[in-house]
Amino acid sequence: MVSSLICFKILLVEDNLPDVIILKKQFQKLQTLSVKLTHVSTCRDAIFSLQSHDFDVILLDLSLPDSHNLDTVKTIYSHSGDIPILILTGLDDQVTAIASVREGAQDYLVKGQINLDNLQRSIRYAIERKQRLKEINILNKKLSTSNQELENYAYIVSHDLKQPLQTILASSQLILHLEKNLKEQSYQLLEFILASTNQMNKLIDNLLSYAQINKKSIEKEIVCVENIIKNVMKFLNKQIQDSKASINIQMNNNNKPIKVFYNSIQLSQILQNLMSNAIKYIPYDRTPEIQITIEKKEETWLFMVKDNGIGVKPEDQGRIFEMLERVDTDRKYSGSGIGLAICQKIVEINGGKIWVESILNKGSTFFFTIPILAIEN
Ligand code: ADP
Repeated sequence: MVSSLICFKILLVEDNLPDVIILKKQFQKLQTLSVKLTHVSTCRDAIFSLQSHDFDVILLDLSLPDSHNLDTVKTIYSHSGDIPILILTGLDDQVTAIASVREGAQDYLVKGQINLDNLQRSIRYAIERKQRLKEINILNKKLSTSNQELENYAYIVSHDLKQPLQTILASSQLILHLEKNLKEQSYQLLEFILASTNQMNKLIDNLLSYAQINKKSIEKEIVCVENIIKNVMKFLNKQIQDSKASINIQMNNNNKPIKVFYNSIQLSQILQNLMSNAIKYIPYDRTPEIQITIEKKEETWLFMVKDNGIGVKPEDQGRIFEMLERVDTDRKYSGSGIGLAICQKIVEINGGKIWVESILNKGSTFFFTIPILAIEN
């Protein structure tokens, strides 16, 4: 809390002298606030004062000889640093009031409607709010630095892990190839080493891919969704053939191709993960039936990947998008628990949302959105 004994340094930017005199008199009557007032009459002088002095709050009239209305707020805000701005104006206009707050002002006070109490309260609250914002900004900066460090760390570790793993893989393959008289048990152990190393290789690739999502400067372009889906299906061809999966695609855009502004690799990654899961998480006695639907929903493209698989319990539907979370407890299905975390990260950094609706043993529908941009048309 701000102590009541603190002396507030106020910059008053006001060109109307009678208003200045009234304010000065009001401040003299204050009992719980001690005020050191600096008065200037123009935007230019206000900037000069802000550059050379420290203030706790700025009281700003919108109409000055060298600046008017929102321009005044914008100019002073750009020079105010962390100092809260209170608009003090004769103009009782809600639209300007809201616009001023959007431009960075903390409050909008109308002359003639303010009394000593609410002026005092506004000043105190503005200072408190600005202080809290400053703290939140510092915490956000710390958080984003530590996220960045974590991502760099994951990237380096994954990179360094790959090299020894490749050596293990290559050596095991070489032994299998060269040693023709291996005992059955040794042969099985080597096969086991190979399978585990391959699995670890995939896991590291996924970790790398997760860590890189923010790293790569994402180059976006206009991409045709149908082409992306066709390429993903080519990539998943073996999985589709082996499982005899049927895939039905429905694009609801009045017979026009759907184009989105996205990074094509990232869109492929999302669809590949969702489609591959739709084929994978199926009871053994069922053939996968996948329905992909894309349609406009308000300001977004809504993608839906529906399957007839094992489904996800309601209590697990949130956590499957978290890193390394897997919910098939008896481990019948192989996987690393990173695919959906990758999807979520990509969708969210592109301004979309991803979620699932599911009925256990009946199937799931994974939804994700892509904002529609004017340049797509
Ligand atoms: P992985 O498939 O490699 O385990 P994912 O992040 O893609 O990792 O999925 C996380 C978990 O979510 C899976 O382990 C599985 O339990 C569940 N899951 C994902 N997709 C489906 C689906 N289509 N049907 C049922 N469960 C799913």
